[in-house]
Amino acid sequence: MKQLALFLKLDLQRLILILIILCVSCLFGSSIFILNHVIKAQLIENSLSVNEKYASKIALSTDQYFENMLQELAYSANTLGQDFSNNALVQSEAHRLKFQSNNFNSVSIIDNMAHIRHLEPLNLKFDANTAYKTLGITESLKLKRTYISPPYKSMSNNLIVLMSQPIFSPEKHYLGTVTGSIYLQKENLISEILSTTYSYKKSYMYVIDNHNKIIFHPDKNRIGDVVQHNNGLNAMYQKQHGYIQLTNSKGINNLAGFAHIPSVNWIVVSQQPTEELLVQANAIILKAAIGIFIFYLFMFFVIWKITQYISSPLNGLAQMAGMLATPETEQKITEVDPWYFEVMRFRTALLFSSKKFKDKISELNLHINTDPLTGLHNRRGMQLFLEELQTMQTEFAVLLIDIDFFKQVNDTFGHDQGDAVLKALAIQMKQNFRDNDVCCRMGGEEFSVLMATSDRDAVYSAAERLRNTVQQNTVNSIAPITISIGIAFWPSDSNNVKEVFKHADNRLYRAKNEGRNCIR
Ligand code: GH3
Ligand code: MG
Ligand code: MG
Repeated sequence: MKQLALFLKLDLQRLILILIILCVSCLFGSSIFILNHVIKAQLIENSLSVNEKYASKIALSTDQYFENMLQELAYSANTLGQDFSNNALVQSEAHRLKFQSNNFNSVSIIDNMAHIRHLEPLNLKFDANTAYKTLGITESLKLKRTYISPPYKSMSNNLIVLMSQPIFSPEKHYLGTVTGSIYLQKENLISEILSTTYSYKKSYMYVIDNHNKIIFHPDKNRIGDVVQHNNGLNAMYQKQHGYIQLTNSKGINNLAGFAHIPSVNWIVVSQQPTEELLVQANAIILKAAIGIFIFYLFMFFVIWKITQYISSPLNGLAQMAGMLATPETEQKITEVDPWYFEVMRFRTALLFSSKKFKDKISELNLHINTDPLTGLHNRRGMQLFLEELQTMQTEFAVLLIDIDFFKQVNDTFGHDQGDAVLKALAIQMKQNFRDNDVCCRMGGEEFSVLMATSDRDAVYSAAERLRNTVQQNTVNSIAPITISIGIAFWPSDSNNVKEVFKHADNRLYRAKNEGRNCIR
């Protein structure tokens, strides 16, 4: 883990970036997963329930039609029963039945011996002396009551459903039957009801009777076929209406709603291929996914910006930690905005470290820039102050100080006593000058003072004060020494610092030549 982090050069910002990408991706993935699940489940539920409602409505209105048709037949049966031997009545009643409503494709009136008394429309031919033994006629004569046949082939080879009502005389003698037939494979009442402009997303309807025979189907060739390999049939027979996901005879998954037509116990099925719905669902999910993606992208940038804002002070401080030695570091640390607790603490700690570091360095510098014997600045230290005065463009005076006849002190009292005299002079210099005047030992018994002023009188009186103090004080009972001082000014003597020192040196030389213990 640690190695990996090093290899990837992971820092807090990159870690957070990876974390955000991971989080946002997980969120996006799970959102789409849930959305996919919810939308599909919802669409399937909707489709099933819409199909059920549609099938129920169609079943109800078909049932209503059948009731009306049976009523029409019953009315005619009653009329015919009054005077069944009256051929004119039989013909006019059959004609009225056929053409008044056009509900039936054909109408026939049959006596109890299965002879057709009359058949409408007239283009259908029949033999009045033949006893017709088709399923519909035979059954309705046998049952002597209201009867609706299953689909069967008529004598004219049409696939039909026959509806019939019995004809009784006023004395309740059975006389025959009046029938109306529906041609399933031609334009008929059922197809008119069912094949209305219903073609939404490959949805379709079909009707089967209670023996799985197809009464209506958008594919006319299948009308009259027996439905096989449809795993939903059992469930559909058990309930009056409902919905089911079924696999049809072609092996296609469908979302089906169904309802029974009570008068005939047929089943109306309205269904939609599941695949079709899923295609639709996928299109919706894709649109939603694009929307969600854009939203998450936006979220990603907002969070990324916020975390950058949070982590950048830490990042800044971490970088400062690597360069505590550089002079600008402390300034840069102070510039970091400590807007929350941890950063505030780190900043304080780092500032503290930086200060310690600097102290340590200046302590080391002090050793390099200080004369060990007197504790005054050495040449190097003086050089730093000169640079500082130059960059600040501050006017200053240079005082070069040399002990008179120092060789004699050494010769008379020894080198150690000579050193003691040098130390004593250093102390007197420090006491004589102000804190911001820079006292240095240039080497041997030669000293210098930098005074950041252009006030000549002040400089000369300070020099005079020192000269006077020195000549009045003894060190370790050595007779008081005297000093000579040469003074020059920057920039009035020269713009060049070296030249200024040369002037001061020349003046010191003059002081020596002109009797020592004096200032020039
Ligand atoms: P004047 O400057 O007045 O012309 O006479 P002087 O005797 O001071 O002359 P010079 O500059 O030639 O002598 C300097 C002497 O200072 C030589 C050396 O013995 C002594 N000296 C230099 N450095 C040290 C030091 O660190 N300690 C001691 N004790 N003496 C030093
Ligand atoms: Mg000297
Ligand atoms: Mg000297």
